[in-house]
Amino acid sequence: MNRIGILYIVATPIGNLKDITFRAVEVLSSVDRIACEDTRRTRVLLHHYNIKKPLISYFEYNKLKRIDSILRSLKEGKDIALVSDAGTPGISDPGSSLIKRVIAEGVRVEAIPGASASLTALVSSGVPMHKFIFEGFLPAKSGARKKALANLSTEKRTIIFYESPHRLLRTLEDMKEVLGDRDIVVARELTKKFEEIRRENVEESISYFKQVKPKGEFVIIM
Ligand code: SAM
Repeated sequence: MNRIGILYIVATPIGNLKDITFRAVEVLSSVDRIACEDTRRTRVLLHHYNIKKPLISYFEYNKLKRIDSILRSLKEGKDIALVSDAGTPGISDPGSSLIKRVIAEGVRVEAIPGASASLTALVSSGVPMHKFIFEGFLPAKSGARKKALANLSTEKRTIIFYESPHRLLRTLEDMKEVLGDRDIVVARELTKKFEEIRRENVEESISYFKQVKPKGEFVIIM
């Protein structure tokens, strides 16, 4: 019987290219193919570590089509590494659909742990971190977003949100309206040159980002 390949779930840096494990570099160098979201971004990382591998583009809008062909390759005995644009694949990115499907088909998965924006922001925040929940991205539409926030109104644990620069202000405004002027931490561009960690209340954050256009990648800790 043919050997079935392994799907390696490989965490990559969230900014600083040095934030990758020896094992991740070893696995990326040894697999047959690498499935990634943005081939240009992944090529920058691979080039840095002198790794040359065929890339499979796997992102939100082609994932359904690609899952079948990735699965076929695994069943033909090819080892495949799954990476995302940043951090740990599967956390708020298309990786989770592939992981779920290959497990259902009896393929072995192995995770190579490493960076994630969520935990990097949490441990830099200074807020209680012994109990927390991860909410990822809030809904894009204000009505649904306010509803999701209202559902969190009695949550006692620290909450981690991801947000894009163009929605940051609207989300902060909805947070203020639904949950009040709470203390938050806004972590921007973690591990990158312009890393910024703002510990303030929602109102202060709103007035700051009204003056300084939000740029880069954001995690909000509440
Ligand atoms: N799988 C990734 C992880 O493990 O963190 C997250 C992927 S999700 C599509 C991308 C979001 O993660 C961004 O919109 C931002 O909220 C957050 N993020 C990624 N890199 C970041 C960074 N360097 N600084 C702050 N937030 C970051």
